[in-house]
Amino acid sequence: MSDNLIKYIREINEDKIKEVLQYKGEQQEKLFETARKVRNEGKFQNKVELRSVIELSNVCSQKCSYCSISKDGKEIYTLSREVTEEKIDNLAKKGRRTFLIQSGENKNQKFIDDVSFCCENAIKKYPDIKIVLCLGNLSDKQYKQLKETGAQRYILKFETSNPEHHKFCRPNDTIENRLDRIQTLIDLGFQVGSGNIAGLPKQTLGNLIEDLKLIDKLNLSMVSSTRFISNKFSKFGEYPDGDIDLTLNFLAILRILKPDCLIPSTTSLAFDKKNGQKRGLTAGCNTITIHDGTPKEFENKYSIYSSERFSPQELYCREIIEECGMISESYLI
Ligand code: SAH
Repeated sequence: MSDNLIKYIREINEDKIKEVLQYKGEQQEKLFETARKVRNEGKFQNKVELRSVIELSNVCSQKCSYCSISKDGKEIYTLSREVTEEKIDNLAKKGRRTFLIQSGENKNQKFIDDVSFCCENAIKKYPDIKIVLCLGNLSDKQYKQLKETGAQRYILKFETSNPEHHKFCRPNDTIENRLDRIQTLIDLGFQVGSGNIAGLPKQTLGNLIEDLKLIDKLNLSMVSSTRFISNKFSKFGEYPDGDIDLTLNFLAILRILKPDCLIPSTTSLAFDKKNGQKRGLTAGCNTITIHDGTPKEFENKYSIYSSERFSPQELYCREIIEECGMISESYLI
């Protein structure tokens, strides 16, 4: 059964995948077991990358319908060079070696110069660290500038690949442009991460299969799928949250498709199910983010998913990793 399942998924057999996306109960457990087997027999076995996130700024020029970062009248913040460096120092002292530096989209050159300054200095000070940037669409020149600091990775999710659905979810951008940005990052030599959001309003199972086909084509080191979380301050605030099982099944399919990629189990899985992130690891994920890099006073101002933030700390993260029989590492790639 499991060999057949792997074959169907790797061929992206549409009928079978539609069925698998809806698995529950025993069938779902078998799917997860197959995904875990693929992961554990792959390059990183049962290791989990444990990283920290620093949310640099909530200034954002996009207006994505699912995201509440661009809500009107919000109080904006941007961490200064000094605060960012201090945060990196504190985390590095605690032994952290992978830093996810995330922000709203801001092409302002001063902002990019500040990020570049911090990346360059951090890498000089701690030559063994990994910097993962997630700053949205920037110009070729800005991506090149960031790459030259020594930052190794960049995450830019396409979010949803169907052109019309993309326009509905990200009215200020197009899928063509987003894909062009992703390709530029790959061509510059970044280790690139991309993926989608599962359970978005008006998303069909067919759309999810289109997403899988795209992921299969791209040359990615990291892939991800977050579960759509509805936020009353976003345009999609009236829609329900995405189905957690659908996201978990999608993650398990991703693992079977990409045995050696980093796949995060995100806090989007943890809103109404306490064990959501643990379920993500059970479904084949191998990356967990500790939310200890953003200064407390700004945490609630960086609200992409929800106003009630869930900010998992080190102990909790280490516990769920251990409970899943996995081993934490400071980085895997
Ligand atoms: N500005 C950056 C970072 C965005 S936040 C960029 O454009 O890439 C990081 C990720 O959070 C997004 O790529 C998106 O996939 C996810 N996200 C944002 N809002 C969400 C929501 N309401 N539900 C689920 N995922 C969401």
